[in-house]
Amino acid sequence: MKKKRRRLKKKYRRRLQLILILGIVGFVVVYQLNNRSTDTQQTTMATVVPKKIIKRTFTKTPYVQATVDTSNLDVNTATDADYSVPIYETASTSSTVIGQTYDGVWSDYHGTEGAFYKIKTPDNLVGYIEKEHGKKATYKVQTTINSLDELTVVLDPGHGGDDVGSLDNTETIYEKTLTLATTKTVKKTLEAAGINVIMTRTKDSEYTRLAKVAEITNNANANLFISFHYDNYDYANQAEGYTTYYYYDHSEAFANTIHTQLAANNSLSDRGVQVANYMVLRNTFVPGILLELGYLNNDNDLAIMNTANYRQMVADAILAGIENYYNLSK
Ligand SMILES: [Zn+2]
Repeated sequence: MKKKRRRLKKKYRRRLQLILILGIVGFVVVYQLNNRSTDTQQTTMATVVPKKIIKRTFTKTPYVQATVDTSNLDVNTATDADYSVPIYETASTSSTVIGQTYDGVWSDYHGTEGAFYKIKTPDNLVGYIEKEHGKKATYKVQTTINSLDELTVVLDPGHGGDDVGSLDNTETIYEKTLTLATTKTVKKTLEAAGINVIMTRTKDSEYTRLAKVAEITNNANANLFISFHYDNYDYANQAEGYTTYYYYDHSEAFANTIHTQLAANNSLSDRGVQVANYMVLRNTFVPGILLELGYLNNDNDLAIMNTANYRQMVADAILAGIENYYNLSK
């Protein structure tokens, strides 16, 4: 009898312990979940508060831009390897190759050792490249402005001349035509608001080399860079929507701000903001984006986007996005 009671007590005690433990675990889980959702909310909020966007710290650091002699490369057949620069573990070509950087890519400058620059790439790889494959520069980009007329924006109508870009399903509408028309509308809208605009081409027959596009932007003391494109997919009517691309971390806030405005009034599918290693983006230092504003070989997209209304919507969204980016919205 005594024994049994003790056993019962033991059983009861164990049950109590279990309940207690479950209670504690439950409390911790609920507490952490709550905490996590608060964190997420704060992060999400931070990305839309313009003040946070303006705090960018990329203006005074020295950079090293990787350089490859690409003058003899055929853009259509060249592979990534043709544009690559090896990154060594130490300041010696006989040390291990730990990765590569690419022509035009800006890396943080971490010092000089003999014939080498020590760099940190946008992917956070730290190593050495030969000086002959690097150009050291200090970039200063104005990050706070008082009014729009302090701004210079480079607009790049993708393709041009013999490079017609994507085609629609009837093969009569060229991407190069739409990008130029769109860019002209954007130019008009930005200029009316006081912004200085530089175009990388102004004529249908004109083609500007990709490296030249970045050069124009880097040399113009521009604040922002926007490249305009219309998309294409291997199969007709299988892909749809618009995308905003950026490459460097310091372009992410600009990409998000413009994309938010675009998404507000665009009836096409939203493919979101994505990172892409496009030459015009990686070679351009200032905050830059590449817009794919819809699929040319999607008949539904085309009907909507091949209109003056759509181009004006894009222009208005870009102006509103720039105002938000600099915290100048009315
Ligand atoms: Zn294109």
